[in-house]
Amino acid sequence: MLYDDNNIFAKILRGELPCEKVLENDYALAFNDIAPQAPIHILVIPKRPYESASQFLQNAADQELVAFQRLVGEVVSLKEIHDSGYRLISNTNRNGHQEVPHYHVHVLGGRDLGRMVF
Ligand code: 5GP
Repeated sequence: MLYDDNNIFAKILRGELPCEKVLENDYALAFNDIAPQAPIHILVIPKRPYESASQFLQNAADQELVAFQRLVGEVVSLKEIHDSGYRLISNTNRNGHQEVPHYHVHVLGGRDLGRMVF
């Protein structure tokens, strides 16, 4: 499948739509989810165009993979959610109910998140 340049996160990356930025580095951007499902709900996205987790994990350069994971770690550290606990989610395609076709990791925390799958 071809990457859709008009998806919402692509527009955020181009500065065509606003976002509440939390952190960024050369390869990734972290911002608040517009419809938070928990007191802390942050999305981390790569700056380059990858549609899904699979595409990112298979095609991103090592430097990019590392920078992305580091930013997730920095978000956790900034929000101080390690001790209380948190959850990382990457919804993918139909069964995963992925709505925005630009790879993203949800960082959720700040409350008891319940069981993993519901
Ligand atoms: P998905 O279901 O693809 O894993 O999740 C997409 C997420 O993007 C949802 O949690 C949704 O609330 C969030 N989202 C959708 N549109 C926007 C937007 O314009 N800005 C921000 N910050 N988040 C958005």
